[in-house]
Amino acid sequence: MQTTAMLYKNNIGGTQTESSSKDFFEKYNPADKNELLGKFPKSNQKDLDEAVNHAKKAFEIWKNTPAPKRAEILYRAAEITKEQKEELAKILTKETGKPIVEAMGEIQEVIDTYLFFAGEGRRIYGMTGQSELHNKSIITIRQPVGICGLITAWNFPSAVPSWKVAPALISGNVVILKPSKDAPLSGYMLVENLYKAGLPKGCASVLFGSGEFGDLIVRHPEIKIVSITGSVEVGKMVYETCGRMLKKCALELGGKNAIVALEDANPDLLLEGVLWGAFGTTGQRCTSTSRLIIQKSSWSDSFIERLANAAKKLVIGNGLNEKTQVGPLITNSHRDSVHGFTERAVREGGNVLCGGKFLTGGEYDKGNYYEPTIISNIKPSMELAVKEVFGPVLAVIEVKNFEEALQVANNTEYGLSLSIYTKDINLAMQAANRFESGIVYINAPTIGAECGGAAAFGGWKFTGNGTREGGVMALDTYTQHKTIYVDYSNKLQRAQID
Ligand code: NAD
Repeated sequence: MQTTAMLYKNNIGGTQTESSSKDFFEKYNPADKNELLGKFPKSNQKDLDEAVNHAKKAFEIWKNTPAPKRAEILYRAAEITKEQKEELAKILTKETGKPIVEAMGEIQEVIDTYLFFAGEGRRIYGMTGQSELHNKSIITIRQPVGICGLITAWNFPSAVPSWKVAPALISGNVVILKPSKDAPLSGYMLVENLYKAGLPKGCASVLFGSGEFGDLIVRHPEIKIVSITGSVEVGKMVYETCGRMLKKCALELGGKNAIVALEDANPDLLLEGVLWGAFGTTGQRCTSTSRLIIQKSSWSDSFIERLANAAKKLVIGNGLNEKTQVGPLITNSHRDSVHGFTERAVREGGNVLCGGKFLTGGEYDKGNYYEPTIISNIKPSMELAVKEVFGPVLAVIEVKNFEEALQVANNTEYGLSLSIYTKDINLAMQAANRFESGIVYINAPTIGAECGGAAAFGGWKFTGNGTREGGVMALDTYTQHKTIYVDYSNKLQRAQID
C-alpha cells in the first residue's frame, strides 16, 4: 500500500503510470498546513487517451463476465476494505479534516455499498412483456454502456467514488475516476483495493487533476457516461457538454437543506439533531442542515439561546483526536468563502449568536478552523436563507405556522434534504409529501443518508438531474435497456404499429 510515498502516479488500468505532463500539485492536511500528504500528477489528454485505450480493451472482457462473477470481486473488495478500515479512515481524516469517527463511518459506507451492489449482481433484472400477437415473446435486458467518467467532490472522497464505481462495475462497465484535487488519496486507495480484490487489468483507472482535466473527461468521445458530484456551477457546465454530445450524465450537486421545527417538537431531540446536522463534517456535506426554520412558540427563543450555548461547547480540532467533534475547513480559500457568507448576512441584518470568526492560537494556527456559527434574524429573501454555504453556518428563520414553514423550506433552487420535527403524524406526512426534495427526514437531521442500502440518494431541482446514487435505481445510470422480440409463429406477423 503506497500511503507514505510523497510522489504519486496515476493508476492506469492497474499499472502505476507517470503522467506525461511531469507536473504535480500538492495536497496538504487541512488540520496542519505544514503536513504535505503527497504530490499528485496533473494529468493531461495523453494520459486520458492511454486510460481510455486500456478501458476499451477491458470492456470487451468485463461486459461478458457474468454479473455474479463480477460481484465476487466487490465482495472481496468489501473484505479488504474492512481489514484496512482504520488505516483508510486515518488517510481520510488527514485529507479532509473530518473527525476520525466520521471517517470510520464513511469507510463503513464503502463496505456497505460494495455488499449491496455485489448482491445486485444476481438481480440485474429485465422484464417480460405481453405480445399483441400469437406465438411471440418480448423480453428486456439491461446492458452496460461502456467507459464511465466518474468525477467526484472532496468531502466524501471514499464513499462517493464507491457509490459510482460499484454500480458501474457490477453492470459491466469500466471506469475512469478523477477524484477532487482537494482529496485525491482516498479514491486512489479505493481503486488499488479493487485490483487487490481481483479486478481485471484495465477495468478501472484513477487519474488526478483539476477541473480542467475533468472537462477533458467529459468531452472525451469514447467516454459514454459522465457521473459527477460537485457544485451546481460545475454541474451546469458538465450537463451542457454532455447534452451537446448526447451522453448519459448523472449529476449530484449542492444543497440548501433545512430542519423545520414545529411548536410540538421534542426540544431535546431537536437540539441534538440541529447540532449534528449543522456542524457534523464542519457543515461540509451536501446534506448539511444550513437552515433552522422554527415556528415561533413559548419555547422557541429559549431554545435558540440553548442551541447557541451548546454550539459554543463543541470540541473543535484535529480530526485524529478522538474528542474532536468539528474539524477544520478543507482549504484556506474555502474558509474565506464561508466567512464571506457570515459578513454579508450581518450586513443584511443577521444577528450572530455564536461563532462568526476564524479560530486562532495554538494548533488552530496550523489549520483552516472556523467557529460553529449561528445567525438569527434571517429573512427568507436573504442570501443566507437561499445559497449554499458548505460550512458551519446555520441560519435561523422564524415562522408563524406550518404553511409558512413549508413555503420557506421550499424557497431555494436546491432540493436535496429537508427535515421536520413534530409529534403530529399528519403534519409530518403532509410535509414529507410537499417538501421539494429528494430526501426527507422525520424527527432526524438532514444528514445521514444510507446509499449502501436499498435507499436511493439524490436531489430535486438544481441539486441534480433526477438520477440517483445508491439503491437499485443507481443501475439506471449505468445500464441501457434492450428489448428482444422472439417470433416463434414461423410466419410473418405484423403488429399494428411496426
Ligand atoms: P466542485 O464543483 O468544485 O468540484 C467537483 C469535481 O468537479 C472536482 O473533481 C473538480 O475537479 C471537478 N470539476 C471542476 N470543474 C470541472 C469542469 N469544468 N468539468 C469537469 N469537472 C470539473 O465541488 P467541490 O468543491 O469539490 O465539492 C463541493 C460541492 O459538491 C458542494 O456544492 C456540495 O454540495 C457538492 N456535493 C454534492 C453531493 C451530492 O451527492 N449531491 C455530495 C457531495 C458534495
